[in-house]
Amino acid sequence: MYKDLENKVAVVTGGSKGIGTAISERFGKEHMSVVVNYHSDEDGAKKAAEIVEKNGGKAVTIQANVSTEEGNQALIDAAVDNFGDLDVWVNNAGMEIKSPTHELSLDDWQKVISVDQTGVFLGCKTAIAYFEKHNKQGNIINMSSVHEQIPWPTFASYTTAKGGVKMFTKTIAMEYAKDGIRVNGIGPGAINTPINAKKFADKEQYDQTVSMVPMNRIGKPEEVAAGAAWLASSESSYVTGITLFIDGGMTLYPAFKDGQG
Ligand code: NAD
Repeated sequence: MYKDLENKVAVVTGGSKGIGTAISERFGKEHMSVVVNYHSDEDGAKKAAEIVEKNGGKAVTIQANVSTEEGNQALIDAAVDNFGDLDVWVNNAGMEIKSPTHELSLDDWQKVISVDQTGVFLGCKTAIAYFEKHNKQGNIINMSSVHEQIPWPTFASYTTAKGGVKMFTKTIAMEYAKDGIRVNGIGPGAINTPINAKKFADKEQYDQTVSMVPMNRIGKPEEVAAGAAWLASSESSYVTGITLFIDGGMTLYPAFKDGQG
């Protein structure tokens, strides 16, 4: 536990499942107050909120689309109206669409960019406007991916969005460092969440993914949440503009693992 996180107020987007739920629950263990955002899965968000409270924190759930300004306004309003402040904002919501690039529709391209990239921009803009207005040394965490670095054919919209999130994070980390606002990214590798449920249900695809991880296993959402708690806490007080890869070594060029090449 990080003592300084106690009673801090966090917004977690896409909190109704997967990594967003794990981060919300971990923030509960840190005795934080959490705005658990969901897009369509109200039950998932409610369950996450119950666990936040069981873990010793406070929680409210709120429906909002992160790719809209109104959605982000609703999130900051929920933080201030329910808990009186904002300290930590986690842009976690994300989606992916698989398609050969020459067959990818403009509509699908824009769907992914609007959540994974524009959603991060709007979340950061909303949080920073609040921090600046209230002279707060707030903290932002943007959920990127190993695919901000590793190309992924048939997922060009996703890799483009995550590559953009990487430079956006670095740029605003630099822009607001003078005000004590820290902005960092997390780059998960292959994590066991609903986004991967179909793929991991297929043994061949599961084994193939594991073979790309030097640590030889799929990661747990809680392992990503542990990184988020550290980045949110003052234990990382001199860290800004990084991507913290939580990937079992996936970004280490695993094809070279037996000394080939
Ligand atoms: P998930 O599909 O389990 O959860 C994604 C969440 O985002 C869901 O709750 C969904 O409702 C929400 N969401 C999608 N569009 C939204 C919108 N417009 N407004 C609000 N919420 C919206 O996926 P996950 O694995 O938990 O992924 C969380 C984040 O981690 C994503 O940004 C994803 O790209 C990233 N990530 C995941 C992995 C992995 O292996 N699971 C790896 C790298 C990066």
